[in-house]
Amino acid sequence: RIAYVNGRYLPHSDAAVHIEDRGFQFADGVYEVCEVRQGMIVDLTRHLTRLDRSLSELRMASPMSRAALTTVIREVLRRNRVRNGLFYLQITRGVARRDHYFPSQDTPLTVTITAKSTDPSIMTRKYANGIKVITVPENRWDRVDIKTVGLLPNVLAKQQAKEAGAQDAIFVDRNGIVLEGASSNVWIVTADGELVTRPAEYGILRGITRTTALDVTAKLGLTVVERDFKVDEMMAAREVFLTSATGICVPIVEIDGKPVANGHPGTASSAIRDAFFDVAEKTAI
Ligand code: PMP
Repeated sequence: RIAYVNGRYLPHSDAAVHIEDRGFQFADGVYEVCEVRQGMIVDLTRHLTRLDRSLSELRMASPMSRAALTTVIREVLRRNRVRNGLFYLQITRGVARRDHYFPSQDTPLTVTITAKSTDPSIMTRKYANGIKVITVPENRWDRVDIKTVGLLPNVLAKQQAKEAGAQDAIFVDRNGIVLEGASSNVWIVTADGELVTRPAEYGILRGITRTTALDVTAKLGLTVVERDFKVDEMMAAREVFLTSATGICVPIVEIDGKPVANGHPGTASSAIRDAFFDVAEKTAI
C-alpha cells in the first residue's frame, strides 16, 4: 500500500508524521472519507466542498487547489489499485512545538491521504440482514458540524456498541431527541409512513450521503420531512436506517435489544440504496 504524505508517495509502512504534529497533540485537524465504486469516486465535489468548510471553520487555509487535491487523490487510488473501496484524507494545522495558540502563519499544514479496497460482500450482508445499534447519551462538543479528527466520544460509543453485540451507536440528546450515529446520519419511516431525518443545521454532521439521499428521494417521488424525532418515535418506527459514505444506506433491525418493526430490513432504505449510485456524482479515477 502507498500513502501520500506532504507531497510524497510513500510505502504505507514508512508513512509517518512528526510527534509534534498538531493532529497528534490536539486533534487539530479535519478529514474526509469518500467511497469508491466501480472505479468511480462518489460525490467528490460535495466532499471537497465540506472539507473547505471544515478548514475554514478551524481558520485553516486550503493547502492546495481543488484540482491539485483531486489529482493527488486519484494518484493514491491508482497506486493502490482501488476500484471498490475508499480514500481517507486528513489535514492538520501542521508541526509546531506544543502550544495551544496557532503556530505561525508560515507553518505548512500536514496533508495525508490513504486508500484501501473493501470487500463488497460485507456490505451485501449488512443490507440483507440489517444491523443492531445501541443508543448512547450525547457527550460531544457543540461543533459536531465540523468534520474534525477529534472523535474520542465516537470511538467510545462504537466500542460500547461492539461490546454490547451491536454494530453502531446512536447519540441521543438529554431531551430524548435522536441526533446521529457515531459515523452516520439516522432516518426513520414512522408508524404513519412518514420518512423523516433530523435537520442538519446544528447538532449533527451534515452527511454528504444524507444530502445525496435527499436528492434520491426527490427523484423517487418520496416525501422527506426534516424534523426532530425522539427515541420513542424511532422505537415505534416501521423502518430505521443509517446513511454514510462507506455504508450508503444501512437498515437497522434492532435498537437497544428491541426489534425494529418485524425485525427485518425495510423497503425505503433499499429503494434509496438501489437508486443512489445513479443519482450521485461519479468521478472517474
Ligand atoms: N455523522 C458522523 C458523526 C460521521 O462521522 C459521518 C461519517 N463521516 C456521518 C455522519 C455521515 O457523513 P457522510 O455521509 O458524509 O459519510
